[in-house]
Amino acid sequence: MTPYELIRAKRDGQELPAGEIRKLLEAYARGEVSDGQMAALCMAVWFRGLGPSELRAWTLAMLHSGESLRIRGLPGRKVDKHSTGGVGDKISICLAPLVAACGAVVPMVAGRGLGHTGGTLDKLASIPGFRTDLSLAEARAQLAALGVCIVGQTAELDPADRRLYALRDVTATVDSIPLIAASIVSKKLAEELDGLVLDVKVGSGAFMHRREDAQALARTLVSLAAELGCPTVAWLTSMDAPLGRAVGNALELLEAVEVLRGGGPAEVRALTLRLGGEMLVLAGVESTVAAGEQRLERALADGSGLERFRALVARQGGDPRALDDPGRLLGRLESRDVPSPSTGFVVGLDTEALGVAAVVLGAGRIHSDDAIEPGVGFTVLRTVGDPVSDGEPMLRIHHRPGTDVSEVVERVERAYRIGPVAVPRPPLFLERMEAAP
Ligand code: URA
Repeated sequence: MTPYELIRAKRDGQELPAGEIRKLLEAYARGEVSDGQMAALCMAVWFRGLGPSELRAWTLAMLHSGESLRIRGLPGRKVDKHSTGGVGDKISICLAPLVAACGAVVPMVAGRGLGHTGGTLDKLASIPGFRTDLSLAEARAQLAALGVCIVGQTAELDPADRRLYALRDVTATVDSIPLIAASIVSKKLAEELDGLVLDVKVGSGAFMHRREDAQALARTLVSLAAELGCPTVAWLTSMDAPLGRAVGNALELLEAVEVLRGGGPAEVRALTLRLGGEMLVLAGVESTVAAGEQRLERALADGSGLERFRALVARQGGDPRALDDPGRLLGRLESRDVPSPSTGFVVGLDTEALGVAAVVLGAGRIHSDDAIEPGVGFTVLRTVGDPVSDGEPMLRIHHRPGTDVSEVVERVERAYRIGPVAVPRPPLFLERMEAAP
């Protein structure tokens, strides 16, 4: 079938033959199918979905568009975590080195910012010199030496996802369960994992705003990954407020480093420990999540997680001294506070709107080739459930000197809902699912 015929068939709700999906994605990865046709197909999938055999074929085609890491021969069990994306989600940065410091191998393939959500690669790129484009041979050598790497997709590893991810980002086709599932699972299969932990975000700052949709996404992810050979655990976690206090690339990196120093916001630490505990169980390092969490706490207390992160930064071309010097990471900034319009409580925070405001400020991309301003972002001073007084700052905007931030201020003001009666902060951990091959 031609790309045109495939687009039309999906648009009309027909099931696509597995072999045709494979040929199309291979051709796309080679640059032989236009972005226009692929965008149309993604939009048809957004409306019509993919059946189980189509999804399997789509995922395997993306995986086979490139090579695998080929790390089965390395000693140690390989585990990773992936988040479906949120605002202020910097967990991967503290989690990967911490889990590696506890004895598992973590070959993390991460993504750039997508839509209103931030990306681990963009956060790491705020460290001067840091390389996320390691070749497979470099990633393998680093895993053998350090037990951890955090890299992006390359021309070698899942190139179809690399192109599709950027395309979906600018064509409103990110929040599709099958496209998210194929994107995540294909990358993770290319890592040749013994176990995968997924953080499926739900709420106003997630791609899935409704619990039922997030459950459907989590079920799709765990069953697809397990069916293709990878034991998988998923946690549904709340994204009804930014995670932690920092939003923006270098600011989030610094907050993740705070966690590795034993501090940081309680929820960032709690999520790091829970997901890490799950990873250590899947890696066979511990037999219960509670024991895994205790081991991770020891690695925070004795500094071995932070040491591993410093080693990772140095090995990937960054200067680890920058982690001790916020000024170098953030550059020259000015700040502007957004005050509360009344006295009461923060009863709601439109977290997607806050994420979009951060993109407008320069922390994310509007066009797929936009450059990012690493230092800019927000400090969330008041979050859902907190009391506020009239005129008290709710959020601090960090911006480049001379930037007109009036639009960002308006967006932030609209994102906050202040009411007279306190609401409880939504619980972070909502539900757990698992599946094994
Ligand atoms: N994360 C991914 O890696 N891919 C998606 O499509 C969404 C979130």
